[in-house]
Amino acid sequence: MKHTMTFSAHPSVTVLAGPTAVGKGTISTYIRDNYPEVWLSVSATTRNPRPGEVDGVHYFFVGPEKFAELVQDGEMLEWAVVHGQNSYGTIRTKVEEAVAAGKHVLLEIDLQGARQVKENMPEAKFVFLAPPSWDELVRRLIGRGTETPEEQQRRLETAKLELAAESEFDVTIVNDEISRAANELVTLMGLTPHEH
Ligand code: 5GP
Repeated sequence: MKHTMTFSAHPSVTVLAGPTAVGKGTISTYIRDNYPEVWLSVSATTRNPRPGEVDGVHYFFVGPEKFAELVQDGEMLEWAVVHGQNSYGTIRTKVEEAVAAGKHVLLEIDLQGARQVKENMPEAKFVFLAPPSWDELVRRLIGRGTETPEEQQRRLETAKLELAAESEFDVTIVNDEISRAANELVTLMGLTPHEH
């Protein structure tokens, strides 16, 4: 029987996804710093740590062999190659343990990963983080200056496709201002937003 309750078996798992450069990482950092009551999933990745990133806090930095092993052994709730470069994935048991412990779990992952979670854990809440406008998304992507012009162009092409995925999600949050958007997110997760 197809059940009609949207948020039943995994009410405590929320998936946050959205186009490149929309500010998912910034929202995650904000939540990590301001909402210790949120259990922010730490993904495994094959990419190298950036300055200031700590293994086990921001990511589990693993080699490609270890990552392949985790996939092979069915340890990944979802995984994807993001921007055609590195692999990223969510370790299933860590999420399950957090859920069992009654935590409010947040997964900040890309769109491909969100679709897999929808297959594996359809009762989770799916939140789409949207830019205030297309122009603002372009401004943010170019403004952060971390990609080459060719890479920026490639990501903008991807972002166009990603924006079209909004209808697959339960809710949209517009990332107009970080603390406001983060507060909206934690409210959706059933928590009380702090005053900022
Ligand atoms: P960054 O390398 O900038 O930290 O992250 C690049 C992209 O990888 C972001 O869009 C982020 O949402 C995505 N990402 C991070 N962790 C995961 C994960 O576990 N699974 C998937 N599918 N994407 C992830």
